[in-house]
Amino acid sequence: MCAERVAWASRLADHRGMNTSRYAVGWTETSALFRECLAVAADDLHVSPLRYYEHLGREENAGGELCGTLVIANLRWLRETLRRFGPGALAFIAFHEVGHVADCSNGRDDWEREMIADWQAGRLLGLLGQDIAPAFTWLLTEADCGSRCTTHPPATTRMGVVKEGYYRGVVQRLGW
Ligand SMILES: [Zn+2]
Repeated sequence: MCAERVAWASRLADHRGMNTSRYAVGWTETSALFRECLAVAADDLHVSPLRYYEHLGREENAGGELCGTLVIANLRWLRETLRRFGPGALAFIAFHEVGHVADCSNGRDDWEREMIADWQAGRLLGLLGQDIAPAFTWLLTEADCGSRCTTHPPATTRMGVVKEGYYRGVVQRLGW
């Protein structure tokens, strides 16, 4: 399960007590964590079957096929993201990509599509009782295009959307 593996990787990091390489788990663990989080999201969003293709190239980081079945990710990038931002950030990315796969609303522009995926990713974090901070840190550090934003909205806009989804997920988890 995604949530258990995120918790496990976090405990391992605490145990090691190191800084820059604190989440330096191996390729296999990185892949397993990402796959498990993809599976949880696919189950929740009724994407079946979800196809996942992973590679070690230099190009592309991760992507989800809009209203489709496929997620592609660069394992090298995933591992580096995990090392720098922790398992919660990887869970967020997995949820975001499945959010694209499950998005069958037509006629939207790029930014709106990204915000739909972000909302779903936030909701899944809240639903699974995950910390929202790693996703925020990742967005602010890695995904902040500032005034040069083209394909994605600015990080602060995305964080607002993630937070809205997160509240929804928490409400769902608590059954209110
Ligand atoms: Zn996206």
